[in-house]
Amino acid sequence: MDKWEYAESIESDSIVSIQSKYGHFIDGKFSTPNSKNYLKTVSPSTEEVLASISIGNEKDVDKAVNSAKEGFKIWSKTAPSERAKYLYKLARLIQERSREFAVLESMDGGKPIKESRDFDLPQVASNFFYFAGWADKLDISWGTKEMKPYGVVGQIIPWNFPLLMLAWKVAPALATGNTVVLKPAETTPLTALLFAELCEEVGLPKGVFNLVTGDGTTGAELVNHEGISKIAFTGSTSVGKYIQNAVGERDIGLTLELGGKAANIVYNDAALDQAVEGVVNGIFFNQGHVCCAGSRLLLQEDIHDEFINKLEKRMQTLRVGNPLDKNTDIGAINSKEQLEKITSLVNDGVNDGGELFQIECELPSTGYWYKPSLFTNVQPSYNIAREEIFGPVLTTLTFRTPEEAVEIANNTEYGLSAGIWTEKGSKILWTADRLDAGVIWANTFNKFDPSSPFGGYKESGFGREGGRHGLLSYLKVRS
Ligand code: NDP
Repeated sequence: MDKWEYAESIESDSIVSIQSKYGHFIDGKFSTPNSKNYLKTVSPSTEEVLASISIGNEKDVDKAVNSAKEGFKIWSKTAPSERAKYLYKLARLIQERSREFAVLESMDGGKPIKESRDFDLPQVASNFFYFAGWADKLDISWGTKEMKPYGVVGQIIPWNFPLLMLAWKVAPALATGNTVVLKPAETTPLTALLFAELCEEVGLPKGVFNLVTGDGTTGAELVNHEGISKIAFTGSTSVGKYIQNAVGERDIGLTLELGGKAANIVYNDAALDQAVEGVVNGIFFNQGHVCCAGSRLLLQEDIHDEFINKLEKRMQTLRVGNPLDKNTDIGAINSKEQLEKITSLVNDGVNDGGELFQIECELPSTGYWYKPSLFTNVQPSYNIAREEIFGPVLTTLTFRTPEEAVEIANNTEYGLSAGIWTEKGSKILWTADRLDAGVIWANTFNKFDPSSPFGGYKESGFGREGGRHGLLSYLKVRS
């Protein structure tokens, strides 16, 4: 199919104002860091330096944790209905300034504006609204007054959904009476810094929300700080394992949302065109930088050729380019390091014997880009069928029977998500019952709602975010 030619439709970046240098947000205000080390956050689509970000050191983290401890004395005694008001105010301000946030997210992280504008920001606001609604219903919800907040929660978030991961973590933590020290990812700190400005604007009591920017060393300082009562982490399985070991001997709470290698199973009785759309959304949404991405396509053998033919045609219509162009489907890869990782895994796949299809398109000359890619002729033992690529690369495997589909789907160290495509409701239930995955979509993919718990099994981590279960992750039994 030929691509329709579109005129460019670039979202203006004039709405965004970025400072050249940022400090940390501690005790209700931005302050000069103790650390003299800075890193540069760059736009992955232009390689332009956007700002200098402090690499928080032990003293910066200590100051933030102490501020959160003081904040906890007030916040945990604040009436739940008052806590709710602050969260509602934050939700409304996020809505009011959502275009600014969306543009900033796309500039700093590389995701298409249509995703940051139509997915990330609405989800961010609805998470704050949802958890605001819970704040004064916690006792009713559990029928007792026997739950209490942990205290100071350390939250470490990744670069794929920077503001949304902040919302998933900060909203339930504050609703339940905890205070927070947040460490955003080094490549995408800007929307978290803008969120801190909103906290100042709504007059959130000092110390309730603290933000320390930095890299992995800053994250490790936070994990190892004695004043932390719970760690909530989203990121790679390797760092998740490090954190679990580091806190192993301490009596603190821990939730880990880690990697995935989800099976997207298409049976031969599925509505194939609909399934093609779901498969495309499952892997190419956010350049495939999605922990629950449907990165393993499991096709019933007798529809393999027809499906691949349809899929390749559909992939060829994807538009790769400027994240701020409203026509763009696939934006920039988040960082040079991530681009190198994707390239190296794809090379492994080709060397192992996989057949690679990549769409024909021109990539911009600056920035980090990767063509939407599809592997066929893959064995389950290949790296590309086992490792989380975290990029726009789909790997195809085939099966003959439902039993075989389940066996292949579960043949992974991960257990975060899965998709099932069939016209038979009974087959959906039969398959879903047998899959080791925390989230399962049927005849759709990548659907999210703040009321629906999200989390994994096996090496995808433990604990749930979202919904009532997500609140429980921030409460413990009163002794
Ligand atoms: P990381 O797990 O390294 O990063 C996640 C967060 O943890 C970041 O804020 C990071 O800091 C921080 N961090 C890094 N090291 C430590 C540490 N020792 N102690 C505490 N915090 C730490 O993921 P990467 O960004 O390096 O990505 C690597 C791979 O991880 C990707 O290729 C992808 O496969 C996977 N990944 C999975 C995600 C998921 O949601 N499942 C999300 C992101 C990545 P900083 O990066 O700022 O230095």
